[in-house]
Amino acid sequence: MEVSLHKCTSYDNNQVRTALSQIFDDFGGIDKIVKPNTTVFLKINLVEKYNPKKACTTNPVVVEELAKLITQQGAKCIVGDSPAVFFNRQHVSAVYNVCQITDATKNSGAELNDNFNSNLVYVEDGKMAKNIEIIDAATSADIIINCTKFKSHSLTGHTGAVKNLFGLIPGLIKTQMHANYPKIHDFCDFLIDVERAVKNKLVFNIIDGIVGMEGPGPTSGTPIACNCLIGAPNAYACDICEALLMGLEPNESPLLVCAKERGIIESYDLKVIGEPLESMIIPNFKNIKVAMDSSAHVIPKWLQPVFNRFFKKVPIIQAKQCKGCEKCKNHCPNKAISIKNRKNGTKFAKIDYKQCISCFCCQELCPFHVVKVRTPIGYKIIQRKQLKRNKK
Ligand code: SF4
Ligand code: SF4
Repeated sequence: MEVSLHKCTSYDNNQVRTALSQIFDDFGGIDKIVKPNTTVFLKINLVEKYNPKKACTTNPVVVEELAKLITQQGAKCIVGDSPAVFFNRQHVSAVYNVCQITDATKNSGAELNDNFNSNLVYVEDGKMAKNIEIIDAATSADIIINCTKFKSHSLTGHTGAVKNLFGLIPGLIKTQMHANYPKIHDFCDFLIDVERAVKNKLVFNIIDGIVGMEGPGPTSGTPIACNCLIGAPNAYACDICEALLMGLEPNESPLLVCAKERGIIESYDLKVIGEPLESMIIPNFKNIKVAMDSSAHVIPKWLQPVFNRFFKKVPIIQAKQCKGCEKCKNHCPNKAISIKNRKNGTKFAKIDYKQCISCFCCQELCPFHVVKVRTPIGYKIIQRKQLKRNKK
């Protein structure tokens, strides 16, 4: 598989434009991909209402320059995403504004997605799901260009091009999918099913790694200069490149392991065009290593409730800092969170760990970043064992 990797050290419009053009040129030029009089859905990453400085959403300069390249081909470009929580005009408009996508889109001659319908798409080679609800902006476009953010992720290890496609599912249905597929292996297979659902329209993928996020992503980590833009027609090639730059072996990425098991990718071998990969690896990047299925591999099911505390990665709400805003409670897919009263009349959230499926939606959604992740030693041991097994 081929991937294009180019240096880009700032969100200066000219620099971003040059790097994006180089990426497309590495695959024959954007005119080979985007044809006049077609409709392109530019699927960006807008996880929630976050200022671009947080580095958890696609940066507006990347959106602007990418959308300009598309519209200059004579195509209609529609920019959008289905963020966490609601997929309606009121919520999505607020997300566009806070993420500074409204002006970026206007400047590029593109349009913001204002279509909040969705359709069931049949997935012939779906493993977990044969029918997936996908937003109409994507299904009615001629092609999709996918542009995500370079981020670590507490559930899947990293947010790459394939994971970004989860945002093609409208609003709260995403939350339901976490409840349907609580095991990481199943959830990653479902993410791959989403990619399969749009594979005929998905023509190109870009990862905005100019400033990425390390540590407890996708929203509570720390911005870090990664100085790169990654791009390829193949979303898995982009994800392998991202993992390697973060210091993760591809077989430490559950999604890539699932893709290889299913034969969607034959190997993790990558031909990198542009910058040498070794020269772009981010030193000491705080990556997240994820174990597949946690305790399920080593102890019988009936003992798991007892042993989960030693083997299961879980969210921890910092009760003293919690503002009791209830956002986590309202969107927990397994109804594992309740709101309690403090003696002074203020509120805080509490997790019932018997119900918690460790989807980390609460960590992703907490506007005050008071949900941390506890990784017990048993989990780390299992993760190392699985890595050895995957290497064989
Ligand atoms: S979203 Fe955060 S601040 Fe709000 S109740 Fe949950 S943990 Fe507390
Ligand atoms: S408590 Fe948090 S991690 Fe657990 S199921 Fe609810 S949203 Fe997911």
